[in-house]
Amino acid sequence: MIIGELKPLDEIIASVTGYHNILVIGCGGCVSVCLSGGDREAQALSNELSQTRYYKEDPPATRCDTIQRQCEPDFITSYLKISEETDAVLSLACGAGVQTMATVLEPLPIIPALNTTFIGATTQPGEWREMCQGCGDCLLGFTGGICPVARCAKSLFNGPCGGSQNGSCEIYNDVPCAWAMIFYRLKKLDKLHLLNEVRIPKDWRPGGASGPRVFRRTGINGSAGD
Ligand code: SF4
Ligand code: SF4
Repeated sequence: MIIGELKPLDEIIASVTGYHNILVIGCGGCVSVCLSGGDREAQALSNELSQTRYYKEDPPATRCDTIQRQCEPDFITSYLKISEETDAVLSLACGAGVQTMATVLEPLPIIPALNTTFIGATTQPGEWREMCQGCGDCLLGFTGGICPVARCAKSLFNGPCGGSQNGSCEIYNDVPCAWAMIFYRLKKLDKLHLLNEVRIPKDWRPGGASGPRVFRRTGINGSAGD
């Protein structure tokens, strides 16, 4: 899932100051799972922003709503109701959701309330760790399901660096060395031979090095790929 984190409140206050009627909109997708941008967080932020103590003039009127996915134009047009007096929308979606909202609702200003941080997964209650950098050419089949791109601090492909110590990465003791994890996982899988195979250098073009990436699926109704 995409992990996001609420921006500092003073940054959000500064970005909404000057608007009079703000729709605070949560997203029911990834950012609700990591407890940053769902309905509960949108309600709490909407209440906070209506406090007079943050403003020299009258606070803005705030209203709150949540749609299931802000990154889907159909969800925005079908489920989002925006009153005429709304002069700004504060979005608790990831960057993809904010940009989709900005396109669909143009020229209404869409203000981001979150910092989008990484693609990750739950590792224990209340903790999410980065797992994938969307490199477009997945290597997990060779690495025991542990990503060296995202989980090794140096994105190494040929084993650990000299800083790997007792299973920890040299950057912090509490960060596991990805290559130690890969080694022990492959050992459990009886696939250590994969480490001896010579691979051609990774092609980084599908990873975004050739500009913004597009994925098109053909053969579905109204598909952009047909
Ligand atoms: S190898 Fe690439 S696609 Fe696979 S998990 Fe890592 S970054 Fe993501
Ligand atoms: S210690 Fe391990 S995870 Fe850290 S940079 Fe070196 S190889 Fe990568």
